[in-house]
Amino acid sequence: MTDTSPSTPPLLIIGAGLAGWTTVREFRKLDTTTPVVLVTADSGDFYAKPTLSNAYAQKRTPAQLVSTPAAKMAETLNVTLLARHQVQSLDTAAQRVIVTHNGQAQTLHYSRLVLATGAQPIRVPVDGNAANQVKSINNLDDFGSFHASLGLDPCATQPSLPKTVLIMGAGLIGCEFANDLVLAGATVHLVDPSPRPLALLLPAEAGEQLQAALQALGVVWHFGTTVTAVDGAEGNLNVQLADGSVIAAHMVLSAVGLRADTALASAAGLVCERGVVVNDMLQTSAPNVYALGDCAQYASAGERTLPYVMPIMNAARALASTLAGTPTALVFPLMPVSIKTPALPIVVASAHPAVAGAWKAGDGEGIWQFTDSEGTQRGFVLTGTSTARRMEQSKATQP
Ligand code: FAD
Repeated sequence: MTDTSPSTPPLLIIGAGLAGWTTVREFRKLDTTTPVVLVTADSGDFYAKPTLSNAYAQKRTPAQLVSTPAAKMAETLNVTLLARHQVQSLDTAAQRVIVTHNGQAQTLHYSRLVLATGAQPIRVPVDGNAANQVKSINNLDDFGSFHASLGLDPCATQPSLPKTVLIMGAGLIGCEFANDLVLAGATVHLVDPSPRPLALLLPAEAGEQLQAALQALGVVWHFGTTVTAVDGAEGNLNVQLADGSVIAAHMVLSAVGLRADTALASAAGLVCERGVVVNDMLQTSAPNVYALGDCAQYASAGERTLPYVMPIMNAARALASTLAGTPTALVFPLMPVSIKTPALPIVVASAHPAVAGAWKAGDGEGIWQFTDSEGTQRGFVLTGTSTARRMEQSKATQP
């Protein structure tokens, strides 16, 4: 095993998703000289992960989703990039990590370490001889293999050969994929134990609007049930539901949720709960180790994970400033999320789950406001043309 022990260990970042790369970009605006090493298990190519669930609508292939190749990112930001390198372990006392690449291990030392390891798809147990054919899409590699297996052409002028995709989970990602795939000519079945889509996020009427809009495009809903077994062979699957129905599908996509990837951190003894626990300076329980992005549980968000883009942008700016020598506490503004369902565009600003309150219809079509027990607006949902009222509703909302 090689041991790279420079006299001044670098700032080391693990993960080349939005959190890792945005931290580097923000840091370089403030500090152009401190050595930075970025280690990542993937290719390191820069892409916006949200585009995975509307690539067909945008007529983009997996390769076209890469906005900047890894080598260009590394050159522009003056970073040593170790792509396709897996960090195996972290020793916070010695301030070093062990990394493997092509079967070779090496030790890297750090002055400060940033964990930006993201989240992993939750897998629900499913029976059947083809249970291993259930796919999840959480990165560009996943999307590339899904895209190749499905054989739908995003650039086709006519919808391609009909394919049937069954999606497990009618949350944000499941509904976005359903909309995108149905527009590309696929037949889509969506299965969820809830009574309607996005049941945890939206008031009932907004969920029903989305249900009707996607149904009008051809999405077939299966509410109040779950997938119990997947049998058959690749491209020719029989999906058994708990309500007794059996659906023939070319592919099964699981979109039942993500869980913060805390594997490395918890093995190193860092405090982890729903994510790697960080204080409002984004510091973990270990000295000189920070975390942000989908892997982090933020004190600044009331001990929540916030697996969205805007929290990453805010966290990366604050962390870069701290790393560059100006300690900066993270304060999240209100961060509404746009749901990419063109059948019914939706904007959601959720209140903290601990805030007791209720949804009420607002002053117009497609507006709901979440008010607490004192009558203060703490969140909102806008659908359809009312999404244009995002600024006005944001001003009226107390985060
Ligand atoms: P990731 O992008 O998961 O990056 C994690 C990185 O860590 C990867 O590079 C991985 O290789 C690396 N890594 C992990 N462990 C190791 C290790 N041991 N060694 C080396 N490298 C390691 N958010 C929105 O706000 N709006 C949207 O519309 C939206 N749409 C979405 C659609 C989809 C389909 C998905 C999946 C998510 C969507 N999100 C959306 C969420 C948003 O994309 C994520 O919050 C964000 O991309 C997470 O970035 P990240 O850098 O924290 O994690």
